[in-house]
Amino acid sequence: MGDLARVKRASRTLPRDFSAPWVSPSDLRREREKARQLRQTAWWRRKLARGICYYCGRKFLPGDLTMDHLVPLARGGRSTRSNCVVCCKECNTKKSTLLPLEWEEYLRGMRQAE
Ligand SMILES: [Zn+2]
Repeated sequence: MGDLARVKRASRTLPRDFSAPWVSPSDLRREREKARQLRQTAWWRRKLARGICYYCGRKFLPGDLTMDHLVPLARGGRSTRSNCVVCCKECNTKKSTLLPLEWEEYLRGMRQAE
């Protein structure tokens, strides 16, 4: 199962503000630091240069893109290459504020607009 399928399945059953009980503040600090390091890599710069938002598929300038964790750190996600995607600011904001079902609807709308 891919990361997106896994996070979709997880997000259906968990409220948006759910924090995995096994994730400690020091885990979060460590993973945030790993994410910061990941952003310095050539791998990440290439993704930014390509400029495609993972969710909506639109093209952006590197400065308009952010890093998003498919499985959020608060839910036990890690700062690994397979869990980190390039995402536009609009999608990032929507993902964090919408309910899981609303977020799925947003993604569906984006795909239909293509
Ligand atoms: Zn987007």
